Amino acid sequence: MNEIVTFGHPALISKSSDIDQIDDYIINLSKKMISIMYEAPGVGLAAPQIGINKNIFVFDAGEGPFVAINPKMEKKEGEIIFMEGCLSLPGYYWDIERAEYARISCLNEKGEEVVYEGEELTGRVLQHEYDHLRGKLLIKSLKRKVRKEALREISLKGFPGDKI
Ligand SMILES: [Zn+2]
Repeated sequence: MNEIVTFGHPALISKSSDIDQIDDYIINLSKKMISIMYEAPGVGLAAPQIGINKNIFVFDAGEGPFVAINPKMEKKEGEIIFMEGCLSLPGYYWDIERAEYARISCLNEKGEEVVYEGEELTGRVLQHEYDHLRGKLLIKSLKRKVRKEALREISLKGFPGDKI
């Protein structure tokens, strides 16, 4: 079982590549990611968070679980600031500004073209996990001063809680 990697792991800052074929490996990977997400527990998990730089994430903002393969961000609308954390930065939360609504198109684990969209938690999770696939960690969304403080705090304390 893969463990969730934390801030400092190179997979978290690398760009992921598209999946050519949805074979048994990918189907098993999506199942494994869903169970790791629930076990954490979290509302979303992207492959880089278990050290795999492939364009796949799973999420459950209340109606899932859903699998997103090779997602493309189609639309973002509005603006909202909300407290947000990340399983790869366990125990830390910051106010993060994001679009209120987001829509992505992708493939699901059956290879079907699907659209995931929503506001509030769904919109937020979609943007958060999409960022992971581009190697963008939550900490990069912070304003410069806040980021400096956050990095200092992490270097001093590490991840004490380990789990949310
Ligand atoms: Zn995250």
